[in-house]
Amino acid sequence: MKNKTLNAALIWKQLEDDLVPRLRLNLVERAVYYHLLRHSRLEGKLQLRFSIQWLTRGIRLSAAPARQAVRTLVDKGALRLVERTRAGHVVDVLLPEEIRSQSPDGPVPSCLARRPRAAGIEEADFLLTKPRRAAIHARERGLCFYCLTELTPRTRCLDHVVPLARRGKNSYRNLVSSCTECNTQKGETAADDFLRSLCRRRRITSAELAGRLRALDALAAGELRPDLLSSPPQADAGARKPSRPWKRFPVWRESFPRKAR
Ligand SMILES: [Zn+2]
Repeated sequence: MKNKTLNAALIWKQLEDDLVPRLRLNLVERAVYYHLLRHSRLEGKLQLRFSIQWLTRGIRLSAAPARQAVRTLVDKGALRLVERTRAGHVVDVLLPEEIRSQSPDGPVPSCLARRPRAAGIEEADFLLTKPRRAAIHARERGLCFYCLTELTPRTRCLDHVVPLARRGKNSYRNLVSSCTECNTQKGETAADDFLRSLCRRRRITSAELAGRLRALDALAAGELRPDLLSSPPQADAGARKPSRPWKRFPVWRESFPRKAR
């Protein structure tokens, strides 16, 4: 990703006319993205290191919505998370033209966003809406897909198994819940190679590696469908939670010991 000479006027038009409706950015997400873009790409830098305090001073908003907006922008592919520490974030800020299309057919009707029909799930963009992103996290049951570390809403992110740079899609077959460490370290490495590297570094056992490779195959084969009906209530208001949703995903019933971070 080279930082070519930018046409700021063109970028502004792409932002307003294409990116904001395509990613359905709300006001806070828009303000955060503009501010980060202003201090990275428009300054000739691809990468930006910043703290939430710095961000909140810049956009005049409190920390919680700013932090949530950063997380959502990472999920939607507008920011690529490189590192997250107590001191702050390091992100690549992507230009509108570098951000993969989220919805070429325009906004998804809210009824479909809440409860997509089975026939449409294969085409569904799972970065597009909060319920879909939540469904991917829920499918992994609070564990990093790669290293099986226990995750919290603050430490998790969504990772493309096949990176966007390699034309990976935002499909449920290509998105997994991941810790930020795996997300950063994996980069554009093939997922199976990355899993083997975790085993060599003894972050997972040989048995866990075998299970993860089976899960990877199951994911690609479409056997790990996220369950949108069991998303958190705020993400899918009114939906009925199935009594035993994991029954649908036999491969996911492998039992792994939960690891403390
Ligand atoms: Zn991990």
